[in-house]
Amino acid sequence: MSELIKLTATEIAGLVAKGETSAVEVTQAHLDRIAAVDDRVHAFLHVDTEGALAAARRVDERRAAGEELGPLAGVPVAVKDVLTTKGVPTTVGSKILEGWRPPYDSTIVQRLRDAGTVMLGKTNMDEFAMGSSTEYSAYGPTHNPWDLDRIPGGSGGGSAAALAAYEAPLSIGSDTGGSIRQPGAVTGTVGAKPTYGGTSRYGLVAFSSSLDTPGPCARTVLDAALLHQVIGGHDPRDSTSIPQPVPDVVGAAKLGATGDLTGVKLGVVTEFTGEGAEPGVLAAFRESVDALAKLGAEIVEVSCPHFRYALPAYYLIAPSECSSNLARFDGVRFGLRVGDDGNRSLEEVMSLTREAGFGAEVKRRIMIGTYALSSGYYDAYYGQAQKVRTLITRDFTAAFEQVDALISPTTPFVAFPIGARTADPYQMYLADLFTIPTNLYGGPGISVPCGLSDGLPVGLQVMAPTMADDRMYRVAAALESVVGTFTPPAL
Ligand code: GLN
Repeated sequence: MSELIKLTATEIAGLVAKGETSAVEVTQAHLDRIAAVDDRVHAFLHVDTEGALAAARRVDERRAAGEELGPLAGVPVAVKDVLTTKGVPTTVGSKILEGWRPPYDSTIVQRLRDAGTVMLGKTNMDEFAMGSSTEYSAYGPTHNPWDLDRIPGGSGGGSAAALAAYEAPLSIGSDTGGSIRQPGAVTGTVGAKPTYGGTSRYGLVAFSSSLDTPGPCARTVLDAALLHQVIGGHDPRDSTSIPQPVPDVVGAAKLGATGDLTGVKLGVVTEFTGEGAEPGVLAAFRESVDALAKLGAEIVEVSCPHFRYALPAYYLIAPSECSSNLARFDGVRFGLRVGDDGNRSLEEVMSLTREAGFGAEVKRRIMIGTYALSSGYYDAYYGQAQKVRTLITRDFTAAFEQVDALISPTTPFVAFPIGARTADPYQMYLADLFTIPTNLYGGPGISVPCGLSDGLPVGLQVMAPTMADDRMYRVAAALESVVGTFTPPAL
């Protein structure tokens, strides 16, 4: 096994810039690693060997020509299959898009290419990003490198598992209710959900448009910040993109790494530290809170009384938006088409295509959303959920008048065995109990590894005000400076 795969993105970029290794060598090392372990992990749906090596060669040529390279040039990155990649298959983990090669790159992928990163391929995910375990992928589950019989979280389990298995030093996820942070927590990696509108949704296959947020995943906080800096910032192609520069997340991560949190006030969310979380998760969290206090942070308890309604509100808002967004998969425009034998009506073909192309969870969400939006029920369900969303936002606003950032465990439980929660959708939904409020509010949240419970990783979540993404990186990096990073048993 090449030592190159154990390096951080920061280290790889440094070596490539100095000419101590080449982008091609680094890329080949990761492709070899994927070939060696991915039959067991199944983090990837598609590996773009040729595209990756070609991109790596271009970086090496630019360096040889004396061009100035960006801070992540030559670093391999794995991309969640929810983002369009020109000419490279994009399935969203669904049969309905099997074989679709998009004619364009999403803004995130375009920025990755412009920065000279090397896209290794597309990672596995729950179908249409609906799920918390990657078991709802139409292409089979991803396995957690910490224990191959356990889930790697979801929906972006592939992006997180690729990091933990050393198949990639960086990856991209998308977070609608927790799909970056929860996989980060259960795989012992770092996952950040930027402020909504801080990263572009152009070319991100839509699930719930008012919540969907692409973001960075990495093994260290600084690497995540560097990736955030590269992919973030205003995009005129996304109408909800914020026309402001990315907060100085890299500077904040470096500041945090000095281990000094003097003058920083952190609020422990009372509602997320009582019953509902496993004792081992709470123990690791409490130890981390003590560590943060030792670094100089002032710790207070903050109650956010409406957070307990976040999960039910989310499961009305997200399915409602999904029922509208997924109407575009009609068997005519993209991917799969079933039953088009010249004798069937358009409606029949559409119905047969959706029957075959969508999995059970996606159908469930479309039905819930269609019902919640139907006339007569709209005010009782969708309208009511939007009011709850406002109350949750007010809880955040009130909290941030008292503290700089909020902290909680990222997830109520550690990685569970594959199959343990698929029988009851509600049991699966509980995985995002602590991450969903941030999405409803629109602020940034990060999960950073904070310890182990029974040998499995636990994540600590830092939540900050909108457009104060830098704050969460500072706190996360400070914690990382004392607890370190976490390495799974060798595969
Ligand atoms: N697990 C949540 C869901 O199933 C969140 C998914 C996400 O963030 N994409 O909807």
